[in-house]
Amino acid sequence: MSQLLEGKTALVLGVANRWSLAYAIAQAFQREGARLLLTYQGERLQRTVEELGAALGAARTFDCDVTRDEDLARLAEALEQEERLDAVVHSIAFANQADLSRPFVETSREGYLLAQNVSAYSMIAVARAAAPKMGQPKNNPGGAMITLTYLGSTRVVANYNVMGTAKASLEAAVRYLAGDLGPRNIRVNAISAGPVKTAAARGIKDFSKVLEAVEARAPMRRNATPAEVADLAVFLASDLGRGVTGDVLFADAGYHIMGL
Ligand code: NAP
Repeated sequence: MSQLLEGKTALVLGVANRWSLAYAIAQAFQREGARLLLTYQGERLQRTVEELGAALGAARTFDCDVTRDEDLARLAEALEQEERLDAVVHSIAFANQADLSRPFVETSREGYLLAQNVSAYSMIAVARAAAPKMGQPKNNPGGAMITLTYLGSTRVVANYNVMGTAKASLEAAVRYLAGDLGPRNIRVNAISAGPVKTAAARGIKDFSKVLEAVEARAPMRRNATPAEVADLAVFLASDLGRGVTGDVLFADAGYHIMGL
């Protein structure tokens, strides 16, 4: 069977370890024949991500803290040296742990802005850095940008709090970016993943109760797997997804459709 991402180059931001959703996505992209570019945040993660990148056969790894404009400028320069860029996966979020456990009404201005900066604004900044390369005519049939979101953007999920407001902002940014970049043949979508035990998720108080609730109530009576999230990313990044933009697609074993 032919590979869905053969001949494509994909930039994946947000691999921290083997449990990262970005890692599952990078694995699936590699399986489908993509040339991989990875980023990590600062020296602390350099060795781990370079090792994971080597295992995935990644072509290059870059240091990029998405809160630093100079890092984003360097990333744009590095992308300029690439022959082509077809897909970007933004799999990044952060909030203070205190804001993921105390009542939402106690959220500080500083904590709110931090979550927005890292988890939502960064998508706009990354899109700006990548779009010039992706929008080039030889990238026919165009490029795909993908970010990761969660149901807590539109529903109240215990302890998700400040991250819920950041994800709401991220999903709105996806729509505006899709509107802006569509004429350049760049599609922008979000995958709303069901809960998965990752480093970021461990910061949320009582996260295991969320996993249990989904298993009990989702139509498929289980949680979604990282591989299922990754395969949806493959679809969006591939030519099969060429008609889809500005949307939020769910990989959550159907949990989001449930009422009472
Ligand atoms: P993860 O492995 O901890 O990934 C989060 C990534 O964000 C890490 O690589 C982290 O790097 C990076 N990051 C944080 N601040 C950064 C910055 N300033 N610059 C660059 N990178 C930064 O957890 P994950 O669950 O896979 O999260 C990936 C995405 O999926 C997030 O957007 C998350 O909200 C979303 N999501 C997760 C779930 C879930 O249940 N796990 C569900 C739906 C959506 P460091 O480790 O260096 O901080």
